[in-house]
Amino acid sequence: MKLVINSPRGTADIYGEDIKYRDFINNAARTIFKIFNFNELITPAFEYTEVFSRSIGEETDIVQKEMYTFNDKKGRSLTLRPEGTAAVVRAAVEKKMFGSGNLPIKLFYIGNMFRYERPQKGRMREFWQLGVEALGSDNPVLDAEIIWMLNLIFKRLGFKNLVLLVNSIGCLKCRKSFIQEFKKYLEPKKAGLCGDCIKRLKNNPLRIFDCKVGGCAEIAQKGPKISGYLCSSCKTHFKDLTDALSSLSVDYKISDSLVRGFEYYTKTVFEIISNDLESAQNALGGGGRYDNLIGQFGGPELPAIGFAVGIDRTIMLMKDLGIGYGPDTKNIRAYLVSLNDECKGYMLEILRLLRDSGISCDINYTSRSMKAEIKKAEKLEFDIIAFLGEDELKNDSVTIKDLKDFKQYTVSKKEIVGKIFEIAGRI
Ligand SMILES: [Zn+2]
Ligand SMILES: [Zn+2]
Repeated sequence: MKLVINSPRGTADIYGEDIKYRDFINNAARTIFKIFNFNELITPAFEYTEVFSRSIGEETDIVQKEMYTFNDKKGRSLTLRPEGTAAVVRAAVEKKMFGSGNLPIKLFYIGNMFRYERPQKGRMREFWQLGVEALGSDNPVLDAEIIWMLNLIFKRLGFKNLVLLVNSIGCLKCRKSFIQEFKKYLEPKKAGLCGDCIKRLKNNPLRIFDCKVGGCAEIAQKGPKISGYLCSSCKTHFKDLTDALSSLSVDYKISDSLVRGFEYYTKTVFEIISNDLESAQNALGGGGRYDNLIGQFGGPELPAIGFAVGIDRTIMLMKDLGIGYGPDTKNIRAYLVSLNDECKGYMLEILRLLRDSGISCDINYTSRSMKAEIKKAEKLEFDIIAFLGEDELKNDSVTIKDLKDFKQYTVSKKEIVGKIFEIAGRI
């Protein structure tokens, strides 16, 4: 049998520059999550299938076509998570995280998700997402904070021309009357819809707004507006949200046709786009409020809101827009080179000194010429190179070359960490 040596379709090996982008994105997001008092939750990569089918909605494309569902050896139906929210809610309900005095619970996650879709640029079958969920409050200030946080992440990553789109799709009650009218409007226009949307018309007509085929979305956008059907409590909630965004000086745009695909969303939905990208794929991330989902899981009737951002897609867009992963000022990288075999013991002593001080460091495993080692250090993007030769060994010293400006310093063993930190501060 021939060995299969390629990774499965729609999956990727992530290494090199992409790791730097991921670290940059994850670190930026973690910093902001901390500022907003969110704590990390790690859930399993697979769940019982009902966790997703019941929450995302039986009629959605995700549940109907895109889930990796399989029976385990005992015949239990399991599914690789296609998104993050359902599992976070499941965990919060199961672990009874809802104490009386601690609401809302603010959680974030970073993890891999799986959807059986046709792979294309920026869309993989295994993909990475980061997201937040705030469970247990319907205060519109919370909605504003979540939207603000999403905006801050992309600002920090270096995206420009950001626009925040917000809309309210109402509660279950007022949405019902909108959907009735919307169906009435679409019925005579059926011929213009694609096959999928004709099915959606019956079960999940809001999805037609998101259809990428033909003129479906356009037909939907010309129909009745959901804003005209909001009940007074949903209207007030949306007004308070937009007021809070204004107080926070977060620019936003109300978008009538923004609905987002998940069935569990209620009231607030939002999306962040960059006008530097083509309109067909300018969405960077988004989310919404889901006030009924926790109750559906057998938990208390608690309102909640969250967002998700695709990490692989963000990396792709950063590269497309020429956004770098930014200098990592704290983590200076040093390349330690011994030019002859007598220095090996001394080199290990210096290596321990540097790594103990938190300096990221690697060594040359084969002795080569100084010139070749400098070339290698530059190629591997080290910040400094530290040489040990006969003279250094004799004098208990180290020669450091700053690879940014090619200045060279010879310092004693005792001074080396301080000198490297001094160089790092200048980067
Ligand atoms: Zn309502
Ligand atoms: Zn369609």
